[in-house]
Amino acid sequence: MRFKAICLIIGSWLTVNNCLALEICGDIKQGELLLLKSARNVVFYDNTQIADFVATEQNIKSKTECMVASDGQALLALPRNAAKKSLIADYPGTDYGTIYEIDIAPSKWDIQHIKGVAQHKVTPYKRHEKEISRELNDVRTALTKESFEEFWREGFTMPVNGRISGNFGNQRIYNGIPKNPHSGTDIAAPEGTPVKASGSGKVVLSGKNYFYTGNMVIISHGQSLYTIYAHLKEATVKDGDIVKKGDIIGYVGKTGRATGAHLHWGAVAGGVRFRPQSLLDINEKKCRHFDGVYIGSLVED
Ligand SMILES: [Zn+2]
Repeated sequence: MRFKAICLIIGSWLTVNNCLALEICGDIKQGELLLLKSARNVVFYDNTQIADFVATEQNIKSKTECMVASDGQALLALPRNAAKKSLIADYPGTDYGTIYEIDIAPSKWDIQHIKGVAQHKVTPYKRHEKEISRELNDVRTALTKESFEEFWREGFTMPVNGRISGNFGNQRIYNGIPKNPHSGTDIAAPEGTPVKASGSGKVVLSGKNYFYTGNMVIISHGQSLYTIYAHLKEATVKDGDIVKKGDIIGYVGKTGRATGAHLHWGAVAGGVRFRPQSLLDINEKKCRHFDGVYIGSLVED
């Protein structure tokens, strides 16, 4: 897809006033969740600067579209590898298109060595392919099942109290073999400890015996926001259940690819994984006012 400027106000980038401004709440940092206010129709362009955006789309690495609530609030997860220079475009492709340049601070990702994992869980055998594709398909499908109620506004809590045994974003090395970065936060707790829904929502997956995640629950909180609970000993909810923040949804276990009892807690917004703890202050994040640059109408070819 390419954009063509047809109505650019050349030479007079208008720094617009209050009616075209955005409140960005939260840490503008890799892997964090932001809450946007006074948004209209938000698209995040990773690794893009204004000149790139206006000229062509060829320098745009990736873009994420956010759902905006009727009061102008939107949730935007910054990818783990988000570039320092990125853009938020509001209402692109209309006469009122506005862009905001943001500087994304880097996060420090540790390297985590995990030893003693069953070797077939690191390098699966051919016969595990079917099992793994069932898991990937179920997760993919669950992440399209949207709750239209905006449960996320009720806020979030830790699902289990315990020691954080693995941080989001860590580069993981299993039995000496580098694998994907860690997609959630691990919380160590004794097997059988109750796991609570970190926020109210609708259960969109309660799956069993997955190759990597064991027994797993996924909850939709509305507005393309989901939380994930993996390696459960047992889940106590089923697909379609409505849960309240703090309700017990299962018990800590070590099913799937796990070396000991812990909860893997994950979070996804608009298809982007982020550090789940940044949900905890969702209604208390510090907000900053950003003036936009009016870009007029950029239309798609
Ligand atoms: Zn984990």
